Amino acid sequence: MVSEKMRELGTKKSTIREIFEYGRKRAQEVGEENICDFSLGNPNVPAPDFIKQAVLAIMTEMEPQAVHGYTIAPGNPAVRETLAASINERFGTHFSGRNLFMTAGAAAAITVCFKALAEEGDEFIAFAPFFPEYRCFVESVGANLRVVPAKTEDFQIDFVALEERLSPRTKGVIVNSPNNPSGAVYSEKTIKELAALLRKKQQEYDHPIFLISDEPYREIAYGCEVPYITKYYENTLVCYSYSKSFSLAGERIGYIVVPDETVDFSSVYGAVAGAARVLTHVNAPSLWQLVVARCARLSSDITPYEKNGTMLYEGLVRAGFSCVKPQGAFYLFPRALEADDYAFCERAKKYDLLLVPGTDFGCPGHFRASYCIKEQTIERSLPLFEKLAEEYGI
Ligand code: PLP
Repeated sequence: MVSEKMRELGTKKSTIREIFEYGRKRAQEVGEENICDFSLGNPNVPAPDFIKQAVLAIMTEMEPQAVHGYTIAPGNPAVRETLAASINERFGTHFSGRNLFMTAGAAAAITVCFKALAEEGDEFIAFAPFFPEYRCFVESVGANLRVVPAKTEDFQIDFVALEERLSPRTKGVIVNSPNNPSGAVYSEKTIKELAALLRKKQQEYDHPIFLISDEPYREIAYGCEVPYITKYYENTLVCYSYSKSFSLAGERIGYIVVPDETVDFSSVYGAVAGAARVLTHVNAPSLWQLVVARCARLSSDITPYEKNGTMLYEGLVRAGFSCVKPQGAFYLFPRALEADDYAFCERAKKYDLLLVPGTDFGCPGHFRASYCIKEQTIERSLPLFEKLAEEYGI
């Protein structure tokens, strides 16, 4: 009667959602203040005041038709010019509006890219730990996801494992730096090595391999450079979003960048437009296109995330956990205290510590703790993590 695959995707909750909903129920029993919910990646820093000011100015100064009417499919041309100029100023690139396609956030951008590139039986490669939605996005376009296991000592790339998984069927590789869930930022060395390997394989297979760079956390980095990947590898498609950088997750706004250097710009941009058309991702929310263009040269204050991350990282290390220090995003990805990360997260619930098993991100034996939450919750959680560690004899 219905697509079995779609029914399953729509009715089976993700582990993250299940844990979050468990937390809501538990809060009714023991009180909100007693739950340490590290499950969701919903920014707790409010959208900056300049966003509100931009909305008010647009609504006051512009004609309703210009604010709320359809834009052309790829998005408002003036908005795309402004955003391209702001990327160029920050990263030394040379885009213009024609290189951008506005989307409803990064999820839409990534899905459009997969759809634009994939032919039946193609493969895309992701690096564990990875955003779990990649799998259903890739499979929805008839392609297969191959996973490169995590390099757990630093969460950079295991190039031997990557080379083993590249094949003539590889259409693209997806990277996410700063990373959800590890907090790792790919170094320039990693990006250069990745670009060199992909170039070698493109020659060997005699077809392009695209690098899809999923970048919702680009601006959330703590004192390190986040290399702009189009400068290192020509067949890169950038998927950007304002969900995290401006705390606009509910508004659904972002874009895809297709650089001129891409193997065949007009075909690739054309395929992006075609994929957006069939997925009905044309004409991204018009008001929000205008807002992000007005705010393109402004930035949010990320110090609350940095403070939370440092407090949680140091507290966990003191309690005996082993964890790679995050350089960006708002997640920690420590080792679980037993091999079975599900059992570990279940045990943590005893202390109302709500954690997500690493297996859900393709990296067993770890757990994710989102620290985009109240500072007081992190303070309260630290003695509980210590008690949990004591149960394991640490
Ligand atoms: N990619 C990663 C790695 C994410 O963590 C998220 C959201 O949490 C997304 C994409 C989706 O972002 P958006 O809200 O822009 O669709």
